[in-house]
Parts: sequence; structure tokens; C-alpha cells
Amino acid sequence: MFPHHRPLARGLRPALLLSLVCTATASADEARPQAPQPAVFSAAEVYWGYSDAVGPGHWGDLPGATTCATGQEETPIALETASATPDTQPAPVFNYRPTRVRMVNTGHTVEFQYDPGSSLRVNGREYTLAQFHFHTPSEHTEDGKRFPLEMHLVHKDPSGAIAVVGVFIKQGEHNRTLSKAFSHLPWEEGDHSEPAGATLNASSLLPKERTYFTYHGSLTTPPCTEGVEWFVMTRPIEMADAQIAAFQRLPHLNPSNRPLQRINGRTVYLHTSAR
Ligand SMILES: [Zn+2]
Repeated sequence: MFPHHRPLARGLRPALLLSLVCTATASADEARPQAPQPAVFSAAEVYWGYSDAVGPGHWGDLPGATTCATGQEETPIALETASATPDTQPAPVFNYRPTRVRMVNTGHTVEFQYDPGSSLRVNGREYTLAQFHFHTPSEHTEDGKRFPLEMHLVHKDPSGAIAVVGVFIKQGEHNRTLSKAFSHLPWEEGDHSEPAGATLNASSLLPKERTYFTYHGSLTTPPCTEGVEWFVMTRPIEMADAQIAAFQRLPHLNPSNRPLQRINGRTVYLHTSAR
């Protein structure tokens, strides 16, 4: 899921600390210009990641993120076909249009910012597709299986409600829809990449068979906010080994999956009716 706080890449931290030292030295010397204040020391900034002292076990200590530790309806979870409840609700209606390819490396994922005008209609709500991004390895598991990548299509409605469509990615055929993008991935945190003339339609990133799990969950990154409607496709899409590797070798993004969370009595539905 997408971060609500501006993240800072692991690799930047020593440089920022050094910058503070330089600033302190400079302030004693009026003739030298002040270095800009490093953003890391603003109270509004938080720093988190996927390992060690900043990993998921510590996210609940971040300002405004106690839900990461205390939430009872968190994501991801282990999805199990055998124990899922048959879903009788109408399936989501996808109305996706093409978008320019506009990527940003957030330090936690590569986010594809979607042009306005694409939507998802479900449960009587109309959600707008805002962005999609990837985690490696997959965050959910399906019948005990973990996939090399998981894509999250993030939708919001006017009230701020969030619906996420998750799609597993397995090794297989070259993915033409993402071909140009994945050969121009933004390398470092803060990098943007907009390959000239590149467009895609996210409907081409949905599996043909729209069987899915659906349940009430959360953001999978701080602040782990709950009330998110999840739709996780049971069928994976494919990418070539080289495309998967292109994402996995980006600095700091491997791994980028939150550990499985407790289901805590939630009902997980499985929607298997015809498209
Ligand atoms: Zn995500």
C-alpha cells in the first residue's frame, strides 16, 4: 500500500546526518551560507522500512501509526480457498482507461500514478483509480503459496474510502503491458520516470478470469489504516524472469512485504461466479 508519510531511503540517512554536522559547523562561521535543514529532523517526518530496527515490528511506534501494532483487521492475510465463504455480492465493475506511464520511486515501492478518469464500481460506491504499485515477494499468500510480486491497484471514493485490487504475478511470459515501464524503472527514492510516449491500460493487468477473495482489511504500510475493501484475484498474471528481476534489484525494495496478519474472526469471501 502507499505511504501516507514521506519516506526516506535507508541510504540517505548517513548523508543527512553528515549534513547536520556541516550545518552546525557553518552556523559558527557567519560568512558561510546556511545549508538547508535536512527534512529528516522535521517532526512530521517518519522513517520506516522492512527490516531491522525500522521493520514492520516497529511500525506501531511511529507517530500516528499505533494501528500497525493494535489493529484487529489488518492486511495482508493468508488466503485459503478451502475455508473461504462463497460470495454472493455483485462483482466489481472495472472502467479503466489508458494512462500515461508516470512512475515514482517512493523508497518503498515504484508507484504508477494513474491519469484521472478510471474507476471501479462496487458495493454501491464509485472509486477512482489513483495509482498502482508492487511488493516483492507477494504480501498475501494463496493456499500457502507466495508469489514473486504482488500488484496493488489503489482506488478512492470522494469520502476517502479505499478499495484495493490485488493481483499476484508469477514467472512466465513477457508482460507486454509493462514492457516499456519495467525497462525504465526509477532507480532511487525520489526518482521519477516517464518513458516518452508510453501509455498502458491497467485492464490489461487484470487476469482474464475474475475470481477473487474479498475481505475487510487495512493499508499494508504505515499508518496501517483499517476500513479498506480488498479484492485479491485468485489467478496470477505473468511476467518474464527479467522483468521480475528488474524490480527486485532496485535498491531497498526487496523485500517490501509486510508479514501476514491475524484474521481475527473476519470472514474471507471467495467470488467464483461467471464474469
Ligand atoms: Zn501495496
